[in-house]
Amino acid sequence: MKAARFYGPHKPLVIEDVPKPKPGYGEVLVRVEAAGVCHTELHFLDGVLDLGVHPITLGHEIAGIVEEVGDGVSDVRPGDRVVVYYYVGCGKCKYCLVGEENLCESPKAEYGFISDGGFAEYVKVPARNVVKLPDNIPFEQAAPIGCSVTTAIHATKKASPKVGEYAVVYGVGGVGFALIQYNKLVGAKVIAIGKRDEKLEKARELGADYIVNAAREDVVKRVLSITGGKGADVVYELVGSKETFSNSIKMLAKKGRIVVIGYTGEPVSVNPLDIVVKEATIIGSVGNTLQELIEAVNLVAEGKIKIVVDDVVSLDRINEALERLRRGQVIGRVVVKPR
Ligand SMILES: [Zn+2]
Ligand SMILES: [Zn+2]
Repeated sequence: MKAARFYGPHKPLVIEDVPKPKPGYGEVLVRVEAAGVCHTELHFLDGVLDLGVHPITLGHEIAGIVEEVGDGVSDVRPGDRVVVYYYVGCGKCKYCLVGEENLCESPKAEYGFISDGGFAEYVKVPARNVVKLPDNIPFEQAAPIGCSVTTAIHATKKASPKVGEYAVVYGVGGVGFALIQYNKLVGAKVIAIGKRDEKLEKARELGADYIVNAAREDVVKRVLSITGGKGADVVYELVGSKETFSNSIKMLAKKGRIVVIGYTGEPVSVNPLDIVVKEATIIGSVGNTLQELIEAVNLVAEGKIKIVVDDVVSLDRINEALERLRRGQVIGRVVVKPR
């Protein structure tokens, strides 16, 4: 089968033939119908995130059709339309025991990170890692649910915005779009910050109450003016640069929460006094749980969260898609169709 393989930082992905996996006991073989291209892939290519496993097939936003099931699988059948949960925890550590497989101390697999993922014609996963898709969600829209929507739900739960609180979504990519919609659902007032008008217009369409263009506006001033000088109660930091982190602290209200989701590899600096006097909370958020994926699928099925698909491309155009993402030209997600 064809797969896009990662051979380490600073090298383009290589499309090559690899053996088609065979599902073992408790596993299913998923024929990949769509795989979303996430910013994390750029972090791998740039060496900002290096888990030391290569060559490997990247791609962790995976949707497809179950083609074959291994022994011991009873609740999943060939022909089922599914989206993949990309973590396989050990099931025994204190994090797994409460469903936080994203924090597992010794993960058995993490598709597209330390195990072969979805930029391939097939992927093999445990049966419990597939969530069935209702017929009204096309595969192209289903794939991005696997990371962008679930990550947004996870991050929002970390911040627990209250009804009427101001939430800044600092970065309007795939996760940002989902954050805007989910925060509106929980009753927050949403301020979206980005650099490109097309993306900010889309943010407004998805429900953002205010949009701020960082390329030409003083974002801190704008957020303070929108919030009557009080600052934002929650800031979702999707960029993670020195500049955006410093702005996030400055635009934060007293008792505000910054949820750090994005990173650039560059250290940030913060004056502890700013955290002290605001009684601010800085929270990290990584990935998502299986329960959050189930919630995400339901929300998309009900039309409460919309998936923005920029383009659907074949596997051999994946490097081109990554380049467009790097240049900030992608609105929402590019989805790869491996077959
Ligand atoms: Zn992702
Ligand atoms: Zn574990």
